[in-house]
Amino acid sequence: MPEYAKKITILYVEDEDDVREGYSRALQRMSAKLYTASNGIEGLKQFQKYHPDIIVSDINMPQMNGLDMVRAIKKMAIDVKVVFTTAHSESAYLLEAIELQVEGYLLKPVQKKSLKTLIEKLAKNIVIEKEYEEQREILQYIIDSENSISVIANKEYISFASKSFLKYFGVNNIDEFNEKYASIIHIFTNVDDIINTQSIKASLNEGKSLYDFIHSLNETQKITRIKNYKNEQKSFLIYISEINETQFLINFTDVTEIEKQREEITKKANHDTLTGLYNRNKFEEVFAYELSQVQRYGYGLSLAIADIDHFKRFNDTYGHLIGDKILKLVARKLSSCTRSSDTVARWGGEEFVMLFPQTAYEDALVFLEKCRLSFDGFHYKECEQITLSFGVSSYKKGDTLESILSRADEALYSAKANGRNQVVGKK
Ligand code: GH3
Ligand code: MG
Ligand code: MG
Repeated sequence: MPEYAKKITILYVEDEDDVREGYSRALQRMSAKLYTASNGIEGLKQFQKYHPDIIVSDINMPQMNGLDMVRAIKKMAIDVKVVFTTAHSESAYLLEAIELQVEGYLLKPVQKKSLKTLIEKLAKNIVIEKEYEEQREILQYIIDSENSISVIANKEYISFASKSFLKYFGVNNIDEFNEKYASIIHIFTNVDDIINTQSIKASLNEGKSLYDFIHSLNETQKITRIKNYKNEQKSFLIYISEINETQFLINFTDVTEIEKQREEITKKANHDTLTGLYNRNKFEEVFAYELSQVQRYGYGLSLAIADIDHFKRFNDTYGHLIGDKILKLVARKLSSCTRSSDTVARWGGEEFVMLFPQTAYEDALVFLEKCRLSFDGFHYKECEQITLSFGVSSYKKGDTLESILSRADEALYSAKANGRNQVVGKK
């Protein structure tokens, strides 16, 4: 007897005592445990009590026949395996038995060899199913015990998912998910992110697999935003690994909080806290990029330093807090008189730097003159009017930030020396 037969339990229902006793010994050898009953009612009770894997039952019995008993049992356990034993004369029952979708129909007197073959076959399937179910349970346990959201998917569909995944998308099971989202790539919906439906689709069209696509991304690119069923979005770091040629394991680690902190840190690193403008650090970064552009394409690049006139006097007269308010107002005004491709930054104190890509020297002078004039009559509450002086220069071959700034600074010095509230340039 193979091992798997010893892992199943059998319920044997037969009204004739000598027949039951005779086959019981054989069935005992084929199972881990055998339960017996002498009619349908008793059989039903035994089933409810022990939930055996296989039922071997006579059809024609007093009180409740085998067909009625199995019909009642199948209502409780649709997958239970059933074998009927019956005499020739009862073959009219065959049709009913077929309708009940039973696994076997053995004619009496039943040959012990054919009974054994049938039970062995059923036992094997039951054990395989049980093992398969157990493996799925283990897999589910492992996948659920991780902090990340995990799925196993092929190119298109998800075949296995952690509870957290189903919860995030507001579905009860995988079928519901596949129906709702049609394909795994539809969960990547955010267009601002590097990983989004468009770019995945494009790469799939190029013949790349989802695995190759995600694998080709660098660490920061692997962070993507995914909307949940409430339309809230969270940031996830994605990891993908290949299980075999068709199946992938994808892990999504929630990095929403880390992302938020990172954004705040980046903001602090790039912006001046008082005015909200870019700080010197960020300006240097922007300048480096624009310098590379002008070196390559040569469209012109101009730079200005704007400095508030007699600001020390403002502070001394109205106090530092009013001084701060004025700095904010000036910052806003300088930004509003530039284009979106220009950059305004606070260089320090009451000095601002402005960068004008694709702008020739003469155009910058005209532009800044307009900007200066826009401050005409500009003042904070009862304070005196605010004016600014501007020093301007433009890119020359071989320039660095230092060299161009120093010319703009010289121009600014002249503007101050000439009576302030004016734009002066130095090519
Ligand atoms: P000039 O017309 O020659 O530029 O004269 P100025 O007084 O504007 O120039 P100076 O460099 O002598 O003084 C700059 C003043 O700016 C000194 C400092 O108190 C003030 N200042 C610098 N940073 C801040 C700030 O963050 N808040 C306030 N309220 N004042 C600041
Ligand atoms: Mg000043
Ligand atoms: Mg100054």
